Amino acid sequence: AHPLLVVDHLTKQFPVRQGFRSRWLTAVDDVSFHINTRETYALVGESGSGKSTTGRAVLRLVDADAGHVRFDGKEIFSLRNRALREWRREIQMIFQDPLSSLDPKRSIGYSIEEPLIIHGMGSRPQRRERVRQSLVRVGLTAADERRYPHEFSGGQRQRIGIAKALILNPRLIVCDEPVSALDVSIRSQILNLLLALQREQALSYLFIAHDLSVVHHIADRIGVMYRGRIVEEAPTQTLFSDPRHPYTRFLMASIPPAHPRLKKTGPLPVAGDTGDEPRQGGCVFSGRCAYATPRCHEQTPPERYISRQHRVACHLYP
Ligand code: SF4
Ligand code: MG
Repeated sequence: AHPLLVVDHLTKQFPVRQGFRSRWLTAVDDVSFHINTRETYALVGESGSGKSTTGRAVLRLVDADAGHVRFDGKEIFSLRNRALREWRREIQMIFQDPLSSLDPKRSIGYSIEEPLIIHGMGSRPQRRERVRQSLVRVGLTAADERRYPHEFSGGQRQRIGIAKALILNPRLIVCDEPVSALDVSIRSQILNLLLALQREQALSYLFIAHDLSVVHHIADRIGVMYRGRIVEEAPTQTLFSDPRHPYTRFLMASIPPAHPRLKKTGPLPVAGDTGDEPRQGGCVFSGRCAYATPRCHEQTPPERYISRQHRVACHLYP
């Protein structure tokens, strides 16, 4: 069986203005990974690391400059017309701010039903019944369908966003920082809901986060991104017990020390490089890395597998 999603050497550049000139910023730089059915793959990195752009390219919300994305074996960048519309039902998105996908002037029942209307699915009574079932499934009540977005708390709105994302029965959901704006006490409720839905509906998730502690319960595998590249990828247990890349170790060190799986970390990055400066080649982390050697500033480290599912792009691991 092939993976549900294959991202293969994906690259995306954006023009950025710098004074009177503009230059190209490589937001996503030769990124490859795959996601299996029922699997959660997390992309973790600070803002500007390219994780959201990767998610948006997978959804075809931005056009990639190079590379391929295959969904269930189909090349998605070449889908057109009806094939494109059908594929769009298979993959949905959950946003950090669920209000961005809810119309404030419409009842939430309507907002959740809308994708069914757009895709011409079911009669009106069938659609309304499906909306009520999905509200109950995400922990709200059928009567909530008549209420408006402002009447709900942040956690409840995220449940509504999840109900809307699920209404077309997708196979993959791109979750872009879905709990980052929520109180810590609410976060685990939403993560547990996502896990329960995954078990029931054979869902796969591409889960985007800026913080490793958020994904350690939910992710099966993690790709750590820095300045457009995946610098390390491993199964969650492996990444937490044996982080190799200096940037991964830095992210681990940002997790509160009580974290049970945290191992000793390496030196912290040096200050200076904010990630926005143009880069002349070499390792993406060389501007901040405490281990950097002259070679690191000249040669981009290749991705190497140090065990079957654990790859790292760093000259420390020949
Ligand atoms: Fe640091 Fe060099 Fe490894 Fe990059 S390649 S993370 S600069 S040691
Ligand atoms: Mg983002």
